[in-house]
Amino acid sequence: MRDDPRLTVAIVGRPNVGKSTLFNRLVGRRLAIVHDEPGVTRDRREGEGRIGDLRFRVIDTAGLEDAPADSLAGRMRTQTEAAIEDADVALFLVDARSGLMPDDHYFGEVLRRAGKPVILIANKSEGSASDAGYYEAFSLGLGEPVALSAEHGLGLADLADALERQAEEHAQRVEPAPAEQAASEEDETGPIRIAIVGRPNVGKSTLINRLIGSERLLTGPEAGITRDAITLDWEWKGRPVQLVDTAGMRRKARVQEKLEKLSVADTLRAVRFAHVVVVVIDIDQPFEKQDLQIADLVVREGRALVIAFNKWDRAEDADAQLRDLRLEADRLIAQVRGMPTVPVSGLAGRGLDNLMKAVFKTYERWNRRVSTGELNRWFAELLEHHQPPAVAGRRIRLRYITQVSSRPPTFVCFCSRPEALPESYKRYLVNGLRETFDLEGIPVRLLLRKQE
Ligand code: GDP
Ligand code: GDP
Repeated sequence: MRDDPRLTVAIVGRPNVGKSTLFNRLVGRRLAIVHDEPGVTRDRREGEGRIGDLRFRVIDTAGLEDAPADSLAGRMRTQTEAAIEDADVALFLVDARSGLMPDDHYFGEVLRRAGKPVILIANKSEGSASDAGYYEAFSLGLGEPVALSAEHGLGLADLADALERQAEEHAQRVEPAPAEQAASEEDETGPIRIAIVGRPNVGKSTLINRLIGSERLLTGPEAGITRDAITLDWEWKGRPVQLVDTAGMRRKARVQEKLEKLSVADTLRAVRFAHVVVVVIDIDQPFEKQDLQIADLVVREGRALVIAFNKWDRAEDADAQLRDLRLEADRLIAQVRGMPTVPVSGLAGRGLDNLMKAVFKTYERWNRRVSTGELNRWFAELLEHHQPPAVAGRRIRLRYITQVSSRPPTFVCFCSRPEALPESYKRYLVNGLRETFDLEGIPVRLLLRKQE
């Protein structure tokens, strides 16, 4: 335990990637011994790091390589685990000149399992000999690497930005309740987490009751009959499901007697907790401003979205009404083309199987990983048919595309002038990704990075 309120940063990575050099660079005093021979540095060092205005505590634990353990893997594991146990964020170094080694993958795995925030650093990135290694670092699945040269002091501004973001999050981090863990930080093996959200009285509680097939949640015409439970563990066709019960979050509102008012904070909590968010729409009053705000929130938070058209027992000309509602949905929630829209009746218990099928299907898409080879074959073909327009008389060159993470699927595209690429062309790329790789209805993220 420690009382130090500053951000604590651990530098980790296999021997010889430049950890000590970076430590010296950050701490600014020549404390560590730097030597070409792997594993020369011995002691666990700590110091006050500085970049720009940011002050933080740095730990370099290369010395723990001496810890008694029977294998190199075991020693590295001990070292890394000890380093990150005490840290708020790990700076994970790889050597962009040598490219990835099996040990780098091993470290990546240990870090992923530790669940701490990681800033991936492609060190030794000065000069073009490091390009291939830089791209290869994406394949660790830890996001976009920061290109750095610890020895020459290049790329420190990007590292400062990344640390700044972590410092902000660190400052805001208040004893997270279990329900507030960011869903995207976890692996795919746990239960699927579903939130059912919507305006008051659209039928959320009734729908949840129906889904879990018990009357554990009380409903009634007066919104806000509540329970304590925030999540409900449940199963659908043998698959574990965790349902976040937004209705259960309404007690505060009841106390304040503002029942009609949607609690944005509660909805946000539920959305952040979830993998898939079902936005319930009352077909008697569809697409009110609040409905659209909620859908927009889901997309902005990068969650998979499913629309439930509820109270379908009241539909009159069901086919025509569904067609109209779907057209409206695609028009009003255009950010995620082709999201699933399912007619249901919580009251009559209809459409629930279809709803759950849509939830699982969307979840699969949200988790999708497209291989770099597949992506670039598609990319090359697309460029053959439709080059980006020349801007100010100059061609914009697109080089390469790779998926850096899933949940939601996030891609990085390298191009000569990212700032000049027109929005319309970005949309064209995103829509192409959606259609080609079966990502309909998913908030696909595309980042542009400069590469001449
Ligand atoms: P550690 O074992 O991870 O602590 O690695 P060191 O900091 O001891 O560095 C290992 C070797 O890589 C030394 O020879 C450093 O001079 C060299 N090195 C560190 N950073 C860079 C860099 O940014 N570029 C290049 N080219 N070499 C570097
Ligand atoms: P919540 O505030 O979103 O949790 O909504 P409730 O589940 O409490 O439902 C609000 C009202 O809508 C209640 O009077 C329900 O009986 C009614 N309701 C909920 N689902 C349906 C449905 O599928 N069809 C019809 N006709 N009414 C429903």
